Amino acid sequence: MTVSRQYIGGSWVPGRGSVIDVVNPASLDVVGAITNATLDEIELALKAARKAFPAWSAEPPVKRACLLKKAGRLFRERADGIARLLTAEQGKPLNEALGEIQKLAKTFEFYGEEATRVHGEIIPNDGMDYQSLVVREPVGVVAAISPWNYPAELIGWKVAAGLAAGCTMVVKPPELTPLSPLEIARCVHDAGVPAGVLNMVTGEGSSVGQALVESPLVDKIAFTGSAEVGLRIQKSCNDIKMLSLELGGNCPMIVTETSDLESAVIGAARRSFRNMGQICIAINRIYVAEPVYERFVGKLAAAADALVIDNGLDNPAADLGAMASAEPLEKTKDHLADALSRGARLVAGGSPPEGDRFRKGYFFRPTVLADCTHEMKVMTEETFGPLVGVAPFRSLAHAADLANDTPFGLAAYVFTKHMDEMRYLTKRLDYGNVAVNNVDAGIINAPYGGRKQSGVGYEHGREGLLEYLNLKHIRLRFEEVQGA
Ligand code: NAD
Repeated sequence: MTVSRQYIGGSWVPGRGSVIDVVNPASLDVVGAITNATLDEIELALKAARKAFPAWSAEPPVKRACLLKKAGRLFRERADGIARLLTAEQGKPLNEALGEIQKLAKTFEFYGEEATRVHGEIIPNDGMDYQSLVVREPVGVVAAISPWNYPAELIGWKVAAGLAAGCTMVVKPPELTPLSPLEIARCVHDAGVPAGVLNMVTGEGSSVGQALVESPLVDKIAFTGSAEVGLRIQKSCNDIKMLSLELGGNCPMIVTETSDLESAVIGAARRSFRNMGQICIAINRIYVAEPVYERFVGKLAAAADALVIDNGLDNPAADLGAMASAEPLEKTKDHLADALSRGARLVAGGSPPEGDRFRKGYFFRPTVLADCTHEMKVMTEETFGPLVGVAPFRSLAHAADLANDTPFGLAAYVFTKHMDEMRYLTKRLDYGNVAVNNVDAGIINAPYGGRKQSGVGYEHGREGLLEYLNLKHIRLRFEEVQGA
């Protein structure tokens, strides 16, 4: 099996650390391998990024924009190959992996445009002989650390915005799914981005990620992952660094009596189970108005049962593939057992699919639980698996209270046809993203971020770029021109 090299200072460098196998979660076949970066290799990458920073940050934005757009074109040209790697290492169906690479390309194109629109302000002072200029400057060297559920797209959000701003970067892709991220680095290299501007070191979070977090050579950490690791990162910085933390959620959906029940069910099935529920903005729990509760539960159970689950390479158009590893599957089973022991009613799924082709991989049927309460883990903790809990609500105030009753604040969903209900709920929901009558809470043009234990900082949109820029206030004093 080929062991992938790391990308350091513009070269593909063989690693000297221990070897980690990359496993296809649908078949348990080994599909590749990486090395766990040594401290020397991490330092080499950080020094390469520091060395490249002065020249890269001084490039005219239009030059950086051209290179980002070129990388975007290369992602599109190579989408088939990268998507196959992504499915092989992560488990999602091939068509979905292809969609992820197209979105990655769009992200690079978007930030290629935004790179040329970084501007400052002129602020009037009390006296007319003074003027304040506020300009934006790149933060410096960024360590980017990302999870395995969207291995290509989530790295793209960081790399495209960081490079557009003029930062240089060391990226640590997830150890479970490093192969597609390494191909992203290859496209960036082939697009002509100078040596050292982007570096990629591979390996485990506890050693490689932690070393990046603790390094004095890092000016900013851009992290996406679990709330637990996010908190650990925040606590373990040895010096002052900028931090953006995009963390986990336990996202609620509210379905009011006035909603279009059919479209609420389609939305619920899509956002609860897509990518096997391994989405930070997955719907974990659904609150339904009492008069339509049983109808909704019946329809959602039928929609879950109708989803096609298969090996994502053999059946590119399947709705669902394998889960990415044993860990989220075990957590899903644990949340299911916990809810059933506390009185939840199983209305769909609850077991692995039957058939020889599901024997080896991490497969589980999309599962719906009715009559759930907040004593159950599924209603208060992030499952990160194909499991959703449903409960009835009495009034809109009751629904909003239940929706806000967790430490998380990433995304919430509302289905209603009534403007007043829409206003009432969107105002009260304590979430960074609220989607109404749709389940796509994040788009590249608008800011995306969590509240409470779901994180700090924003990605996407202009705000996603500003996270990689410092402000500088330049105060000017003028004198009267003599004899003018
Ligand atoms: P995780 O926190 O275990 O790991 C994320 C990354 O951090 C991995 O690359 C891992 O190697 C690294 N890491 C682990 N320990 C580290 C340490 N001590 N120091 C530095 N890095 C370390 O998360 P995961 O299981 O890979 O991903 C799932 C989580 O990510 C879920 O909670 C999900 O909600 C969250 N997520 C959030 C968003 C968002 O935008 N808010 C998007 C996707 C996923």
